Amino acid sequence: MKLLHYILFGVLYVVSAVGYAQKIPVFKVVLDAGHGGKDPGKVVNKTIYEKDVVLKIALLVGKKLEAYPDIKVIYTRKTDELIDLYERGAIANRNKADVFVSIHCNAHETQVGGAETYVLGLNANEQNFEVAKAENSVIYMEDNYEKKYAKYNINSPESLIGLSIMQEEFLEQSIQLAKIVQNQLTSVMKRSNRGVRQAGFIVLHQTYMPSILIETAFLTNNEERKFLTSAKGQDEFAENIATAILEYKKWVQGKSSYISPNESVSVQSEGDRIHPEKHTTNNHTTKNLSYKIQISSSPKRLEAKSFNFKGLSPISVEKDGSVYVYYYGNALKHREALVLLTNAKKKGYKDAYITAFYQGKRITIQKAKQLEK
Ligand SMILES: [Zn+2]
Repeated sequence: MKLLHYILFGVLYVVSAVGYAQKIPVFKVVLDAGHGGKDPGKVVNKTIYEKDVVLKIALLVGKKLEAYPDIKVIYTRKTDELIDLYERGAIANRNKADVFVSIHCNAHETQVGGAETYVLGLNANEQNFEVAKAENSVIYMEDNYEKKYAKYNINSPESLIGLSIMQEEFLEQSIQLAKIVQNQLTSVMKRSNRGVRQAGFIVLHQTYMPSILIETAFLTNNEERKFLTSAKGQDEFAENIATAILEYKKWVQGKSSYISPNESVSVQSEGDRIHPEKHTTNNHTTKNLSYKIQISSSPKRLEAKSFNFKGLSPISVEKDGSVYVYYYGNALKHREALVLLTNAKKKGYKDAYITAFYQGKRITIQKAKQLEK
């Protein structure tokens, strides 16, 4: 009898311990060391490989973050191996990561230096496009790349039109993370600031969570190369990237009202894409303005998930009297809404149309366009 009592008590204890463990929210960070294996990344002096430098930094970032019990670190690679760009995103998605951080080194034919952090986005900036092209070119080393990346033409920035919409949902958070990283690398580490930028990185396009790509420094700059390849330099980069992730975690969990720590950091996009700073710093009107594509309405309540809507995402729903109205996308500008509309029509929503909201209330497109100005 007494034995049974102990067993029962033991079982209850284990059950409650498991229940308790599940209550601690774990913040999952995917660390992606760029390149690897037969893809060396940038190579300088035939002996210094980007893949080695970034792996060391990524492992150090992970080690620092693993010290926190509420953080789980997932690596896309821990050794010198080539992981497909697709697989890197898939790892993050499978793990339902909270954030995806890809770590790289930059290169240029001049002695230019500095840190820059990217979020996914399309723009006409030639310079950013060249950086993305260099990082994307790894796909040619992957098996079956023609099939896997059929929808991408890495030589054309336009090929990412409509493809970056998935990440748009996370753009604000991605930019916030990028800004915090830039602040650490520049204000704290005192490295030169090349800003938060947007470009079409395939690896960022694969993920369903806030995602950034850090170009820590230039391997081609003599000074920076020395720092990047030193144990001290790698540890400093790791320390500051880890701190930035912790700061971001605080912000996203509502524990800090972290707003642009460094006013000089801005999204450097010369194209048609979104300039989120303008919406937060210039005035309040545009912040509360959004365009959505009305795709369908039904008396039946459907889960607002992409699989119910031909793969479109994000989907939102609103009840209007006895019908549910379903919307796709969330754009800040009318011209972005046009891209979303094209996308919806392509998917078969022939009657889809653009709607506009201001402070949660439906307004006319004309009014929205005025507010945009
Ligand atoms: Zn790289």
